[in-house]
Parts: sequence; C-alpha cells; structure tokens
Amino acid sequence: MKKILIAIDGYSSCGKSTMAKTLAKQIGYTYIDSGAMYRAATLFCLQNNLFAGGELNGEALKKRLPDLHISFEENRETGLSETFLNGENVERRIRSMEIAAKVSPVAAVGFVREEMVKQQQAMGLGKGIVMDGRDIGTVVFPDAELKIFVTASPEIRAQRRLAELTAKGEKTTFEEVLHNLTERDYIDSTRKDGPLRQAEDAVVLDNSDLTIAEQNQYLLKLFKERI
Ligand code: C5P
Repeated sequence: MKKILIAIDGYSSCGKSTMAKTLAKQIGYTYIDSGAMYRAATLFCLQNNLFAGGELNGEALKKRLPDLHISFEENRETGLSETFLNGENVERRIRSMEIAAKVSPVAAVGFVREEMVKQQQAMGLGKGIVMDGRDIGTVVFPDAELKIFVTASPEIRAQRRLAELTAKGEKTTFEEVLHNLTERDYIDSTRKDGPLRQAEDAVVLDNSDLTIAEQNQYLLKLFKERI
C-alpha cells in the first residue's frame, strides 16, 4: 500500500504526541517527535553552560553544534521511541519544566532549525512517517499528504500537562504550567524562522471537548481518505 507523510502541528501541550503515537502504531508508521529534538538541543546547551548569565550564547552554540548528536531508539520493553543525546538516554530529562522553560529561545535560532529540519527531512525520505511539531506541515514536509493543525483552550492544555508532570513526580503548579505554555506559544508563533502557523491545506482539530478515542477515530478516518 502507498505510504504517505502525516504532519501534526499545533500549540504546546494539546496532545499532539499522544495522537501521533497512537495513530502511527495503528497504521504501522514510524512516529517522530520533532519537539524532542529541540528539547535535547536545549539540554545540550544547559550541559555546556551556554545559558551563562541567563541568555543563550548563540555564538558559542554555533561553534559547538557539530558536537550535538540526537537520535531515537525504541525501548524494547515499552515499544516506545526514546531520545538520545550524544549516546545518552535523555528521554526523561527533556520532559522537565527546566527544559520547557528554555526550549523556545533555542528553537528560535535559525541555524539550529536549519540543522533539525535537515535531519527531519532525511527521516521522511521513505515516507510512512507521522511527525509532530510546529513547522512540519509548513517547512519540514510542505508536501505531506495529510496535515493536521491541533488546538485546544490554554486552560485545558495546562490542566492536561500539569496532570502529566505531576504523575511523573515533578512539583509544579497550574499557574506555572499555564505561563510556560503561553510564553512558548508566543515565542514559537512570532519567531522569524519556521514559526508555528497553520498550513493552508491543514485540517484544523480543536480537541478541547474530544476524548482520546474520538480524536483517534477522526484521525483514522482522515488517514483512510488520504490513502
Ligand atoms: O512539542 P514540544 O512541546 O515537546 O516542543 C518543545 C518546543 O520545541 C516547542 O515549544 C518549540 O519551541 C520547539 N519546537 C519547534 N519546532 C518543532 C517542534 C518543537 O520549534 N517542529
């Protein structure tokens, strides 16, 4: 059967990765979490003291970029893909609020995006990919056969993310999570390179009032129509 590219973009914490992961598993495609790459790049900056003084040192990052290697490996026990930074499993660390608070400025750097987009496009060469992010349908795969743009109210998104973080043992508050989402959405939408925006041919999905099962049914229907 013909394989296609599926691009899922949208605001922070609106459940893109859950829907992309589930869909990929059902249709036998590979799921790629492009946000994990920007999060891993942010951890790399922290590990190398590139935030000294609070601001990202872009010049120093540029010099260190050849030492930044991100890869994904499947965890045999869970069957889920995990993120590796220079050979180290960083899946858990990159989901912290510490990374969430610093990732958008790193993701706004033109040369960082250029490198990530190049790697993401290489992953999509054989098609059969579900990739989620902010610029997948607009920059990474502008010719993707199926594009979804996901949204939900900020309060609902913050509530969902808070529940996720709390379940992982992270201590944070609704206000802190809401502030982080709003700030990331602002930086992501207003940056010069690869801003978060809806592709003209994307299907908009507001999942504020949908269950995961309902959302999944809808995505499967769209997928079947496209192939
Ligand atoms: O998807 P996730 O919330 O993990 O993404 C973390 C951050 O990575 C986003 O807030 C955004 O700044 C950046 N990102 C991006 N482009 C993508 C995916 C994520 O700029 N394609």
